[in-house]
Amino acid sequence: MATSGRRAVSGGGDRHFAVVDPATGEVFDEAPDQAPDALDALVERAHTAWRGWRADPAARTTALLAAADAVEAAGADLAPLLTREQGKPLAESYAEVARTAARMRYFAALEQGARPITDGRAVRSEIRWRSLGPVAAIVPWNFPLQLASAKFAPALAAGNTVVLKPSPHTPLATRLLGDVVAGALPEGVLTIVTGHEPLGARLASHEGIRHVTFTGSAPTGRAVARGAAASLARVTLELGGNDAAILLEDVDVERIADRLFWAAFRNCGQVCMAVKRVYAPARLYSRVVEALADRAKATVVGPGLEPGSELGPLNNAAQLSRIEDRTARALAGGARAAAGGHRPGLPGYFFAPTVLADVPPDSPVVTEEQFGPVLPVLPYDRLDDAVDAANGTRYALGGSVWSGDPERAEAVADRLECGTAWINHHAELSLAQPFAGAKESGVGVAGGPWGLHGNLRPFVVHRREET
Ligand code: NAD
Repeated sequence: MATSGRRAVSGGGDRHFAVVDPATGEVFDEAPDQAPDALDALVERAHTAWRGWRADPAARTTALLAAADAVEAAGADLAPLLTREQGKPLAESYAEVARTAARMRYFAALEQGARPITDGRAVRSEIRWRSLGPVAAIVPWNFPLQLASAKFAPALAAGNTVVLKPSPHTPLATRLLGDVVAGALPEGVLTIVTGHEPLGARLASHEGIRHVTFTGSAPTGRAVARGAAASLARVTLELGGNDAAILLEDVDVERIADRLFWAAFRNCGQVCMAVKRVYAPARLYSRVVEALADRAKATVVGPGLEPGSELGPLNNAAQLSRIEDRTARALAGGARAAAGGHRPGLPGYFFAPTVLADVPPDSPVVTEEQFGPVLPVLPYDRLDDAVDAANGTRYALGGSVWSGDPERAEAVADRLECGTAWINHHAELSLAQPFAGAKESGVGVAGGPWGLHGNLRPFVVHRREET
């Protein structure tokens, strides 16, 4: 496969849109605003590239490993740009770049595995996995590179080609990643398009696309599924979460406070599987609130590029006003801000890390996904009530149980209705495990061999042995 000098980023014509630095609220760059009509030629190019790409698994592995090396080598360019457009502290952007390269290497090395099937009859069947064709990957703004790689790495490793659309809030690091990997991948194998709606809607419903893999909000996920229905393309949806952390009576509050705090506040709370509600036994309630509030007050809030910043701004103005609104409604309903509850005196989209006590259980900050640095802590008397409350939402992405007795915690975790249940931690994943939400948190599976197979179809050769 000849690869050098190719560009994965598609140019996009003359129109551009502004990209805002969330730490200042000011425009700092721009990206191409591609016309939806441009998709026809780009999807066609991806279809043409598929013919060569699907044919040679060994060449794919080599190319993907070279692309991963290129991403890692470009960390010093990718990470600051990611922080500038997304807001997260620089160390977290470096970690995101490293996870992006690691995921590319993981899928590059994963075997698809032709598999014989026997059922005792004089026939022999064998599954030979086949790729699907051009895949549309649509990504949100909270982990632009990591979530992009969670889509393009398994799709490309499976032999598909990809047209990838980042969020218009965070187009730049993804475009740069496209440039960085262009020397390793043949033309048309990975195409990056940027622009405002209806670009995503048109991509999801494009007749040349065979799989739409989407991460984002549940309402947009529904629209994507409706769009993909037109061509009956396969759909993988990774949507929202409202994860609960249940603390048991024997938990060592001071010992877990830091871990619990960061499981809720990392990336300014803009994590699908962050802790979004804490349920604490009534006897421990004030200690839990106090320990989390102390941690919140000690957190250094500031621009992600400033050394020492632990918590950056929210990514965009709409998300900031959503967080302000949810917090104001909780406070108006009788909640108390044990920490934060307001914007700090900084420009940009900052919101002080906020711990809410005495929150009405029907407040939107409890019943809906907040996706920001605001954590409601709720007391419980009976453990069954806490489990019911944890399960009582339309989302079911993750959940956790915290206890000095991991066996007991695991028995409680087994009752959680979600995709991943953690014991004494939260929101950590391994590349090799499946990641899938239940209920309205998603459709399909990412991660591990399941993520690869979400991009493949079984092709079965069924042979009668006697002639
Ligand atoms: P969003 O749904 O607004 O946007 C996601 C992507 O879809 C963006 O690229 C956007 O431009 C695009 N888009 C918008 N309208 C579209 C349409 N009609 N058709 C096709 N694409 C369209 O989500 P967001 O605000 O960018 O991200 C936050 C949400 O993402 C939260 O709900 C969060 O929980 C969720 N999320 C989920 C996971 C997960 O793995 N489950 C991970 C991260 C974020």
